[in-house]
Amino acid sequence: MPVETRDVVVIGTGFGGSIPGYYLAAGGASVVMLERGPRLGTEEFTHDLQIGTYTRIVDLIRNDGVEVAAGNCVGGSSVVYFAASLRAPSFVFERSGTLGRRIWPATISRRTLDHWYERVERILPVSEQPWEQIPYAGGVWAAACSRAGHTCNPVPVAVDLGRCTNCNFMLNGCRFGAKRSMLLNYIPAAEACGAEIRPLHEVESIGPASTPGYRYAVNYLQLDPDDYRVSTGGGTIEAKLVILAAGAMGTPVILQRSAPLLGPMPAAVGRHFSPNGDRVSMALLDETKVHDLLGLERAPGVAYDAYFVGRPITTITYDYLDATLPEFERFSLEQIYFPPIVNIVPEDGIDGPPVWFGVDKRTLTSRWRSWLSVLHMTEDNNEGVFGPPPPTGNFVRISVAAGVGQITYQVSPETQRGFDLSDAATRAIVEKDGLGRHLLWLGDRNTLSAHPLSSCRMGDDPATSALDDRNELRGHPGIFVTDASAVPTSLCVNPSLTVAALAERASALLLRRAGDYGVTVAPGSARWW
Ligand SMILES: Cc1cc2nc3c(=O)[nH]c(=O)nc-3n(C[C@H](O)[C@H](O)[C@H](O)COP(=O)(O)OP(=O)(O)OC[C@H]3O[C@@H](n4cnc5c(N)ncnc54)[C@H](O)[C@@H]3O)c2cc1C
Repeated sequence: MPVETRDVVVIGTGFGGSIPGYYLAAGGASVVMLERGPRLGTEEFTHDLQIGTYTRIVDLIRNDGVEVAAGNCVGGSSVVYFAASLRAPSFVFERSGTLGRRIWPATISRRTLDHWYERVERILPVSEQPWEQIPYAGGVWAAACSRAGHTCNPVPVAVDLGRCTNCNFMLNGCRFGAKRSMLLNYIPAAEACGAEIRPLHEVESIGPASTPGYRYAVNYLQLDPDDYRVSTGGGTIEAKLVILAAGAMGTPVILQRSAPLLGPMPAAVGRHFSPNGDRVSMALLDETKVHDLLGLERAPGVAYDAYFVGRPITTITYDYLDATLPEFERFSLEQIYFPPIVNIVPEDGIDGPPVWFGVDKRTLTSRWRSWLSVLHMTEDNNEGVFGPPPPTGNFVRISVAAGVGQITYQVSPETQRGFDLSDAATRAIVEKDGLGRHLLWLGDRNTLSAHPLSSCRMGDDPATSALDDRNELRGHPGIFVTDASAVPTSLCVNPSLTVAALAERASALLLRRAGDYGVTVAPGSARWW
């Protein structure tokens, strides 16, 4: 059988894959996009929490020290994400961590990235949530911050607010077409330009091509739509350019597995992993105090527990994002609602060890409707390291939506400092005048994150970065990594807008040089419709 060939193979269809996939196809390159997950349309997303519906499109991956949620479908995590869309603060790009020198490439700063942020905000597009559309939970957090002397703002979201019904099923994919995932912009635009998307195609490795004029052979398995552990076939596509965008949990694993075929990988592949400094904690609010101190109460007769109706992320305080503070002391605090996939039980553990069963637990869960969860996004120390890859896939899949990954993540003292300070700040807000009790999420000792980053990061130093400042994999010309794994550090805000802005930037740089790889593209051919 003749080997299939394309100018470009894109691996993964989240932000990092869809954006370059579109620009290369718009330029006239032949593009195929391989995606391990299924393809669902707007009308197919469900409003239930049954195994086999939303669990088909999102994975929870347990590792040693960190637990990560990630999307698994055409559109990637943009389909299941909560759409909070923020630019990272300027100081993030100047970070040196414990490395002792600037981690980000010299060519990237907030100033140089603003142009690309602005472009993504326009294309998605991103909207400012007006206060009158902020659901109750966000209002309570904002009022609590204000009462404690802090500012709090609505979070910009990639949501068509006119269409949004505030259903709070964002994790399931948006059945109203309101969430501006890749399914509504870059992916249809790429397909309109001839890009082909192949769902249920899981890339395993990349090797050298055998066809003259082509550089790389991308090897994939086809997956059974009912059980992703079962393969129904496989194949190889040869390409002149490979865009690797399997997300921070997938990209390093594919590269590790490819090393025997392609030769040694840069040392930073599978190292410096960051869960974006994510830390979750919770307020157990006293409803009487909410009324007396904040002047707020739920509408009478609400059909559903009030804190959990509405978009999951609505308000944030930026007060601790102070560039003059030392590194590891800066963070944001955001109101968030966690759906049941993150089934972790909070405990204060203050008067003794956490109690998981019995009367205490029953008392706590009986007040579930008074829980308000807070996401802290801190400056972590890139401590995560990937172990050897599993035989196939990105992790060992133990059920449709759950897997065991290879990462070892041990919180360093620097990261712990950010956690402690952000805990103290949240506690001061929540416990002021007895408004509520601040509880930590101790049900699982693992750090919990939906924001995996940095596992194949960019930088100027070959010893500590896998990619150059144009996202090209060191030592392997023609492989470009454009997903969250390329982001060098935690960001102190939700990462998708930065992932997308960097992918926009990488696409523009690549289009100018595509001819060097034998791919002819017409400049200026991208447009929006
Ligand atoms: C529940 C949840 C809520 C979130 N909320 C927010 C938010 O509100 N704001 C925000 O900024 N960020 C949020 N995020 C994070 C954000 O979605 C990610 O940072 C972003 O999507 C990363 O983009 P990416 O392209 O790197 O990866 P992804 O979007 O995850 O895309 C990677 C794609 O590659 C595919 N893939 C993986 N391995 C393979 C393989 N071997 N072969 C083929 N395909 C493969 C995956 O199935 C996936 O489609 C959230 C994430 C989750 C899971």
